[in-house]
Amino acid sequence: MERTLVREIIKNEGEKIILKGWVAARRDHGKLVFIDLRDRSGIAQVVFSPGFPEAHKTAQDLRSEWVIQVSGKVKERPASMINEKIPTGRFEIEAEELVVLNTSETPPFPLDESGDNIDEEVRLKYRYLDLRRERLQKNIKLRSEFVDRMRQFLFKNDFTEIETPLLTKTTPEGSRDFIVPSRMYPGKFFALPQSPQQYKQLLMVAGFERYFQIARCLRDEDLRADRGFEHTQVDIEMSFVEQKDVLAIDEKMITTVCEEMGKKIKQKPFPVFTYKEAMEKYRADKFDMRTEEEKKDGVLAFAWVVDFPFFEKDKEGNWTFTHNPFSMPKPEHIDWLLKGENIGEIITQQYDLVCNGYEVGGGSIRSHRADILKAVFKVMGYSDMRIEAEFGHMMQAFNFGAPPHGGLAHGVERMTMILTGETYLREVQAFPQTSSGRTSVMDAPSELDEKQLKELGLEVKKK
Ligand code: ASP
Repeated sequence: MERTLVREIIKNEGEKIILKGWVAARRDHGKLVFIDLRDRSGIAQVVFSPGFPEAHKTAQDLRSEWVIQVSGKVKERPASMINEKIPTGRFEIEAEELVVLNTSETPPFPLDESGDNIDEEVRLKYRYLDLRRERLQKNIKLRSEFVDRMRQFLFKNDFTEIETPLLTKTTPEGSRDFIVPSRMYPGKFFALPQSPQQYKQLLMVAGFERYFQIARCLRDEDLRADRGFEHTQVDIEMSFVEQKDVLAIDEKMITTVCEEMGKKIKQKPFPVFTYKEAMEKYRADKFDMRTEEEKKDGVLAFAWVVDFPFFEKDKEGNWTFTHNPFSMPKPEHIDWLLKGENIGEIITQQYDLVCNGYEVGGGSIRSHRADILKAVFKVMGYSDMRIEAEFGHMMQAFNFGAPPHGGLAHGVERMTMILTGETYLREVQAFPQTSSGRTSVMDAPSELDEKQLKELGLEVKKK
């Protein structure tokens, strides 16, 4: 006989079935033993009675999180036991046979609640148990559904999904790189990508015209509730487009996907604020436009923010880009950039998508001319030699017929956070880092042995 999933029992009244799953709870009433059996599809009540003495006896030994196989008949519960709160709550299984597939140690924390109050280090050390809780199962599945729907929309609109390298050269996104030493070139290093920015632009030069990728991005930055070392982006780039074209197709995608997932959007088309207007109205470039009522109802309030200044002064008083060095200034400001004039007033064709207080997307129309890109790094005080060494490959590519292009990226975690109402990134990532910057379950970062260090030509200085 084949296994039946818990969610199917409602269609099997009177039938004999087999369930497999975990013991979520056990209530021993002496004569009757009740088990809540959990599988990926839900929870079912199983009743062991002395009428089936062997199963009844084994059921008394069961403990939380043991893995079992039960066969028995699906019956309607007595009226007093009906639980309207769960889809299977009108039924139970009258167990005839019980097989223990595996036992379990007592879990270090309860799994039948939200988990909010449990110490983070402990939750992440036993993340594979933590993930068994209903809330996290829901979040991770919803994330998967979100990515799937985004993919479907993009495929329908003639985009090609293309992977780009993880071992690469630094791409500035305003953060620190994670570095990988090279064994074949001791003393040289790869950088893990902060985003696929340069490769996706090279794919435009390569003529793909519509690219997307579910891309992992790695940034060595201070961790926050909505920020980890690793995140995933739905990364998009298009050729022969202007800002309005990118915003239009993206808005259609976000609206379609969020509405398919049952969400209500506060305002359509999304309102557009200039950076200046946003700062005047909300004193921030990301903001929450929802009323208290809308917050309760899970409404999504999207808005575009456009017309950002291209440059700002860093801590040392030098000019640096606000978002992305590859962005194109507004057409009327290109001359200023090329001449290095009015730097603080240059506006870039950069756009951010804001929702419920988070920045959930951002991108720009790019400069597709080598002289414009070079001028950006000049403003930042880079020498010709440094520009050539770090970005010569981009300028060279642009000299081979680079089409006008632009794109954007959406943070999958932030989108999942607003779709689920979660306020911590770790609640929507299967294996997030701890807030002290270590991995879940596995103990990393960890030391290398002497042989590995030697092979890489590395020496670790004692602190
Ligand atoms: N590369 C940008 C980022 O990671 C997104 C983009 O401009 O397309 O934020």
